[in-house]
Amino acid sequence: MSCDFLSLARPGVQKLSPYVPGKPVEELAREFGLQAQDIVKLASNENPMGPSPAVKAAIAAALPELTRYPDGNGFALKQALAERLGVATDSITLGNGSNDILELVTRAFVGPEHEVIFSDHAFAVYPIVTQAVGAKAVSVPAKNWGHDLVAMAAAITESTRLIFIANPNNPTGTWIERAELEAFLAKVPERVIVVLDEAYTEYVETDDVPNGMDYLAQYPNLLVSRTFSKAYGLAAIRVGYGVSCAAIADALNRVRQPFNVNALALAAALAALQDEAYLIESRRLNRAGMQQLEDGCAAQGLSWIPSRGNFLAIDLGREAAPIFQALLREGVIVRPVANYGMPNHLRVTVGLPEENQRFLDALKRVMLRG
Ligand SMILES: *Cc1c(COP(=O)(O)O)cnc(C)c1O
Repeated sequence: MSCDFLSLARPGVQKLSPYVPGKPVEELAREFGLQAQDIVKLASNENPMGPSPAVKAAIAAALPELTRYPDGNGFALKQALAERLGVATDSITLGNGSNDILELVTRAFVGPEHEVIFSDHAFAVYPIVTQAVGAKAVSVPAKNWGHDLVAMAAAITESTRLIFIANPNNPTGTWIERAELEAFLAKVPERVIVVLDEAYTEYVETDDVPNGMDYLAQYPNLLVSRTFSKAYGLAAIRVGYGVSCAAIADALNRVRQPFNVNALALAAALAALQDEAYLIESRRLNRAGMQQLEDGCAAQGLSWIPSRGNFLAIDLGREAAPIFQALLREGVIVRPVANYGMPNHLRVTVGLPEENQRFLDALKRVMLRG
């Protein structure tokens, strides 16, 4: 008999459900005896274009230096980001993906005596990082699947230390408009840190969605997090960043691992930032693919939650789990979101036109079958 180590873990950790990622292509290929090239994965909001050639070249150029530790301060990348965003370099924190930033801010500021507020149907990492530090998670009911910022502000107590907001939100695709965000920020006491998670901001093409950078000067308790995993097409290399007042960045810098962003990631992100054409093409592809998915769903009599991201939460009007399973057998991986309190929805990432069509055709077949 081995020791029950889980009972030794801290209470918050014992109650944690681990993050469930999108099913990897190789795993499905193994399980169903399919060929990897016949599988379509639209499950993790990745950019379907593959990495930009400029990024691949930058990674190749960094290979000869792999025996050296990376620049632990990420000087060149921070410099480029600061210039691009119009902020000071000491306001930037680099992360091993933006998940790293979400965890760093929680570890630096939140303890078991605190409460952390987020929305129902919001990104699954928020409850995970909250419980990991033993804090109390306060999940606020959503409004039309999106964040109810009025209710979230009303949920603030003396114990609240952190609030997570995703704009646009994953998995719903819902967004917060400028006036709502401004009214909310004005109500939050300065001792409460607001994390505005803008993982999908590069996909936003309408001006109804606010840009977090516009509020940093006015709100020192604001931290905006962004990532190279989505529109920049670099999910595998793990790099993201936070922008905040220098004092918050200083706290994050104290708790992070000394070399939390590796050398290939630093080189890749720097090159990605300079490849404006890739981003423009990514947006164009996303716009067309979103239209294709919406048209396809409408043709099948299905509704969806309007989205400003690169994914769509489709309402199947019935339990989605069996449909998800049937789609797997068709070689199509999407994302079930029952663990987000959305048992009738499937979240589908916008892919290449032929991938979107594969999904729509497979969905039609499996929905008809039963
Ligand atoms: C994908 C995603 C992230 C970022 O993940 P990283 O790959 O760690 O940068 C952060 N927030 C939301 C809401 C996401 O959907």
